[in-house]
This record gives sequence, structure tokens and C-alpha cells, in this order.
Amino acid sequence: MVSDRFGRSIRDIRVSLTHRCNLRCIYCHGEGECNPGGELEASEIERIVAMVADEGVSRVKLTGGEPLLRRDILEVVERISSVPGIEEVSMTTNATLLQDVAGDLKEAGLKRVNVSLDTLVPERYREITGFDMLDSVLRGVDEAVRVGLNPVKANMVLLREVNDDEIWDLVRFTRERKAILQVIELVDLGDDSVFQRFHADVEPLESELQGCMEKVAVRSMHKRKKYFLPDGSEVEIVKPVHNSDFCSNCTRIRLTSDGKLKPCLMRNDNLVDIAEPLRNGADSKTLRELFLKAVNLREPYYRTGKE
Ligand code: SAM
Repeated sequence: MVSDRFGRSIRDIRVSLTHRCNLRCIYCHGEGECNPGGELEASEIERIVAMVADEGVSRVKLTGGEPLLRRDILEVVERISSVPGIEEVSMTTNATLLQDVAGDLKEAGLKRVNVSLDTLVPERYREITGFDMLDSVLRGVDEAVRVGLNPVKANMVLLREVNDDEIWDLVRFTRERKAILQVIELVDLGDDSVFQRFHADVEPLESELQGCMEKVAVRSMHKRKKYFLPDGSEVEIVKPVHNSDFCSNCTRIRLTSDGKLKPCLMRNDNLVDIAEPLRNGADSKTLRELFLKAVNLREPYYRTGKE
């Protein structure tokens, strides 16, 4: 397995399949992509995933944009999940199109799914995303659970005075489906006014969970805490902002939709183009060198000061 200069081994790759999306979420960071040009073919994604798998990466998260807008999404999942060394392929989706394809995704090799679900109130859903699609999303969640994608996680970005009064409704909603609620702190990427207006501290929720939990587990990735409540609810907290623990335990590299290795969500000044060399016939050794170059450029965005 490959490690970066800060001793962080690279176990995961987050692959953006497209920058296109059918929603317009007010807070979206678009995976930190800046005006990407074009998309990778399924075979190109497979080749890159196979190369990183040879270097010890074993988990792939598909994202976007909205990954389900790719017409070849089943082919992408099938190809990646057949790569030797890849143990888990998962996806984050807005689930507006999930209902019809969840079973096929599972059959193609998808193991689990994260669904963006910031609210259960239709008017709020429209305010946040720009569209009236909450019903389709909820049907998508139920279908994902039904076909056995496991776990199904609901991603709730905590937004001050928008959905911060709905946490316990979402805890109940996910528990009833044996799903997991993942509460995500809003990240500031680009639009400072959005951050100023909507950022909410997750600490009060953490204190509340501490007070009523049965047990807490700390995941190796980002040192994320997952709280298990006595009624069976599971709530995970993603707290990236000014969190050096989060960064010093980041084991992820990213691939942009137009084929650049991206060492960090928060930066766009250290991308390593892999699409062009691939299309120009680069051999495996060259692709590997590009991966190692990107790994070598990784730096914790928020630091402890001891690095
Ligand atoms: N369209 C897909 C979806 O909705 O999951 C994939 C792309 S979306 C960018 C991936 C995840 O990033 C979603 O769960 C979303 O809530 C989260 N996200 C987007 N912008 C964010 C921000 N500014 N801060 C924290 N999380 C964010």
C-alpha cells in the first residue's frame, strides 16, 4: 500500500463520474471540481481504478454531479467491481433516479449507497435543491433498502435555520428503515456567503448524542464518530471544518470527472492529469508514476502544527 509524506496510506478513491446534476443544491461543493472539461469513458475509469487497486486502494466511492445521470452507470459499476483488489464499490446519489435502477446497481456489484437527504419537508426540499422531487428520493431510499444495498446512509448536510430542527425526524426515518443517518458539517468551498449564512456547529448534536448513546465507534477514516443509540438508531458525524484529526486520518484520493487525480477536496492547484496520458497510450508504469506524484502532493488541509 502506498503512503503519502504524512504517513497516510491511500485506501480509497472517490471517483466523480460527471459534473452534470439534475438538482441545484444551494450549498453544493460539486466535489471541489472547477469547470471540468468532458467525462471519462467507462473503460478509462476501469483502467485507472485497476492501476490504483494494484497500489493497494480497495474501496471506490462513485460521486458527481449526479452519478445516475450517466447512461452507462451499470457498465461503470460492473467494470469497477470486477477489478481485482476492489473490495467495495459504493455511491453517493441524490436518489431522484434511484428507484428504477437500485436492483440493477446491486446486481452490477454496488455494495452500499449514500443518499442526500437534508429534509423530509417537501417545501424545504424545494428551497434547498430547486426541485419538487422529494417523493422520488424517498421511493429511491426504500427501494435501495429493499434490494439489499447495505448500509443505506442518508447524508444530511446541517444547515442553520433550514433543517437543524429536523435531525431527530431524520434519526427516526433512518432507524425505521434500518438505515444510518450521517450528519455532515457544511464545508466552505468558494461561496463564503453560503457558509456564513448556513454553517451550523455540529458540537451541540454531538453532546446530545454523547448523553443518550449506548456506544460510540470511531471509524479509521477521518476519525469519524458513529453513535449507537439504545433504540437501534445509528448516527454518524462528519466534521471536516478546521478539524486536523479529520485531515490526518484521510486515506482518500480523488479522480475528477474529466480525469485528474485530485489530492484534496479543498484544493485545485495540485491536480495531476491522468486522462490525457491515458488517451495518448501511456503504459501502466507511467500511470503508476502519475498516481505516486498525486499521492506525493497530498497535504493535510487543516494541520495539527506537528506535521
Ligand atoms: N449528487 C450526488 C449526491 O447528492 O450525493 C453526489 C454529489 S454530492 C456533491 C456528494 C455529497 O456531498 C452529498 O452528500 C452532499 O450533501 C455533500 N455536499 C455537497 N456540498 C457540500 C458542502 N458544501 N458541505 C458538505 N457536504 C456537501
